[in-house]
Amino acid sequence: MTAVAQEIRCSHCGAPVEFKPGEIVATCKYCGFTTVIETGQAFTFEHSLILNRFDEKTVEDPIREWMRSGFLKPRDLAKKSKLTEKELAYLPFWVVTAEAKSTYKGIFERIAPVITKEGTIAHEYNWLVLARGASDFPTREYEVPLEGKIPFDFRRIEGFAKVLNSEVDRDQALELARQQIEAHHRYLLQQDVDKIVEIKTEFAVKNVVYLHAPIWFAKYEYKGNAYQLIVDGTSGATLKGDIPPSKFGLL
Ligand SMILES: [Zn+2]
Repeated sequence: MTAVAQEIRCSHCGAPVEFKPGEIVATCKYCGFTTVIETGQAFTFEHSLILNRFDEKTVEDPIREWMRSGFLKPRDLAKKSKLTEKELAYLPFWVVTAEAKSTYKGIFERIAPVITKEGTIAHEYNWLVLARGASDFPTREYEVPLEGKIPFDFRRIEGFAKVLNSEVDRDQALELARQQIEAHHRYLLQQDVDKIVEIKTEFAVKNVVYLHAPIWFAKYEYKGNAYQLIVDGTSGATLKGDIPPSKFGLL
């Protein structure tokens, strides 16, 4: 089944605002007004925008640079590959600023006799939650340049760019952030204990921001095969990139 787009009227300018099944928060492309679809009410939380610094031509520079660097890539990658697709999308994220403190009890088995360890692990985070369901976007590789955020302004969105709506509401985003941060703490604890017996995480949420950030989705062709790239539209960093297999002459 294909997802059929539906429409509501923008309560600010009256233009049709398209949304697809599963989307919860939609932004009008004519005036930038953001609406909670279910209620038709205005979105009352802070909505920010991170600016894009590239156009279809200049985005090639950081991509070629990425192709030239790193020893795992074929040497002629930058020279021989052809960029076949460059699309700019503003992806929706929730940024949860919170202090998280996990109190744990665990077992340390690396030495005999095994011992029980207790402790706490505490950090402050600007935790990023991608507001889209199915996606292979590498959220943990991406550092949102929060210093560069401005209030959402549709006039700063390029005509050729897509602005994706949110499929996750604020409460869901908070819950996802909690789960992901606790999972991250469990991961960090592997250094200290071999088995976690008990863990309890307390959160002090300081701020939750909804924002759109510019991401380029590019495709390139190298020796007859197609590959994909995901590039941060602010820094130009490649967040995820397919690398063609290269022949190694190690022996
Ligand atoms: Zn509007």
